[in-house]
Amino acid sequence: MKYDFDLIVIGAGSGGVRCARIAASYGAHVAVIEKQYWGGTCVNIGCVPKKLMVYASTFNGQVKDSRGYGWDIVPGHHHWSEFIAAKNKEIKRLNRIYISMLEKADVTLFTGHASFEDEHTIKISPSVLSGKQAGIKNITAKNIVIATGSSPTKLDIEGNAFGITSDEAFYLPKRPENVAIIGSGYIAIEFAGIFAGLGSKVDLVYRQPVPLRGFDQDVRQVLYDVIEQRKDIKQHVTTHPQKIIKEGDQYHLYLDNGEIIKTNCVFFATGRHPNLTGLNLEKLGIEKGKKGQLVVNKDFATNIPHIYAIGDVIDFVNLTPVAIAQGHALADRLFGNKIRKSNYDYIPKAVFFNPPIGSVGLSEDEAAQSGTVEIYISNFTAMRYSLTKRKVKTFIKMIVDQASQKVVGLHIVGDDAPEMLQGFSVAVAAGLTKADFNETIGIHPTSAEEIVTLHQLTRVTSRKN
Ligand code: NDP
Repeated sequence: MKYDFDLIVIGAGSGGVRCARIAASYGAHVAVIEKQYWGGTCVNIGCVPKKLMVYASTFNGQVKDSRGYGWDIVPGHHHWSEFIAAKNKEIKRLNRIYISMLEKADVTLFTGHASFEDEHTIKISPSVLSGKQAGIKNITAKNIVIATGSSPTKLDIEGNAFGITSDEAFYLPKRPENVAIIGSGYIAIEFAGIFAGLGSKVDLVYRQPVPLRGFDQDVRQVLYDVIEQRKDIKQHVTTHPQKIIKEGDQYHLYLDNGEIIKTNCVFFATGRHPNLTGLNLEKLGIEKGKKGQLVVNKDFATNIPHIYAIGDVIDFVNLTPVAIAQGHALADRLFGNKIRKSNYDYIPKAVFFNPPIGSVGLSEDEAAQSGTVEIYISNFTAMRYSLTKRKVKTFIKMIVDQASQKVVGLHIVGDDAPEMLQGFSVAVAAGLTKADFNETIGIHPTSAEEIVTLHQLTRVTSRKN
């Protein structure tokens, strides 16, 4: 059987682009189909613009801090529309880089909506969003990769159409003076920091007693306390939104504890779902899991062996670097005859709040499930704040398995936590021991040196206590 391509990748996000580019570098004849965003969520409506917004949100605090160092800079006004225009220009530049990177790699690009005609044939329909009106086209390939990513999920409550998600938050024409954010995961916490840092009053509404379920309990408590100390973010905990009613220019968000939050903007940050609508997967009988994600084996193959899936559609760990690693490994195996290994047991994570959070390995509760663990905690004011009015604390927690003395978890809340964690995650993933950390000479004066000088045992925890 002769096909048009060796590989068709559906979706030009982080995982899809890496897979296509690496496959092409081995000489494979590759096509990529993208309906809207070259570069995917991360580049267009995710990590990249989010980080730019995080940067934008930190200057106000820095200007105030500068007074302690003798500066008399007066905090000014933030011009949202100028910032969004600059951000959009940068994203357009990155879009072009993604497209030219693929073209240089000899990948054939199609803008449109993909759906399966049969196991080897993809129908490309002109996407309304692409602005192109070209006719429907069928292309075939020996292998097909589904890398279509995910989209935000709104809660199924009355009036949810009045609410926005992160997709819209990146393009708001005006910064809302008040915003009620629902959820306490990555997106909720990061956007709470962004909007508050830029001057909005934020109501953070969530169903847990402390934010960031899944993170170490102490980290969650520290974050809760940090937020409680701020005047610009109000936490509404252990509560569920009931409905949203529009009253004039405002939205009224009703909570099940009887509170009504009156706000200019309701923002759902309540998880994401795989983008699989319209792919016609039902026709092929491709297996899905309980959460609607695609089920794959260790080689990312679905139940149809030449149809693969990577990234958020398989709902493994929905992070850009994970999708990239999956795409790269798949291309290496299919076309490079190589096995590419990644350590998925120790995936470092970051939440870009102000201060940010970095985390790698097990939480204390997880580690204590399989034995006794030693906990080392340091809580200090970073040197940068010694002359400032603002006293931002840094919290460092190390979890050591008592029997092996391996460092199995490291969690930081504080300035530069993600930057510190990236390096230290290599040491944790490599299985280094507390003694290895102790033997390493610190860099003075830094916050990171605390990680190699944590000598005071805070407590010992095991499953029974
Ligand atoms: P998360 O899964 O992180 O958080 C979802 C939030 O919505 C949680 O607080 C959850 O509560 C809440 N929620 C879900 N369902 C309901 C419900 N029925 N009623 C009330 N609350 C509900 O998802 P996000 O949307 O924040 O982010 C999606 C993914 O994107 C992340 O998991 C992450 O993989 C990725 N991401 C990574 C970033 C980074 O690396 N810095 C940044 C942004 C996104 P509960 O905790 O109780 O379940």
